[in-house]
Amino acid sequence: MKAAKCAYCGEMQDMPFECNYCKDPFCAEHRLPEEHRCVKLSQIRVKRFGERRVIRGKSNAGFFKKIFDRFR
Ligand SMILES: [Zn+2]
Ligand SMILES: [Zn+2]
Repeated sequence: MKAAKCAYCGEMQDMPFECNYCKDPFCAEHRLPEEHRCVKLSQIRVKRFGERRVIRGKSNAGFFKKIFDRFR
């Protein structure tokens, strides 16, 4: 990988780190998704922690909406 500016702080990096998720170059300080407010961070969080909860929450909303629609 060639030299690039850290996409977060703009510091020039001879050996930039590439984020595994958004593929942008970053300095050592900002290479982690948490450190550069990665655009993919919300998706990563969903995968790591609350995937089941999020999906269940969504399907619950749809479930209740269906019930309410029936009463209209
Ligand atoms: Zn940086
Ligand atoms: Zn990223």
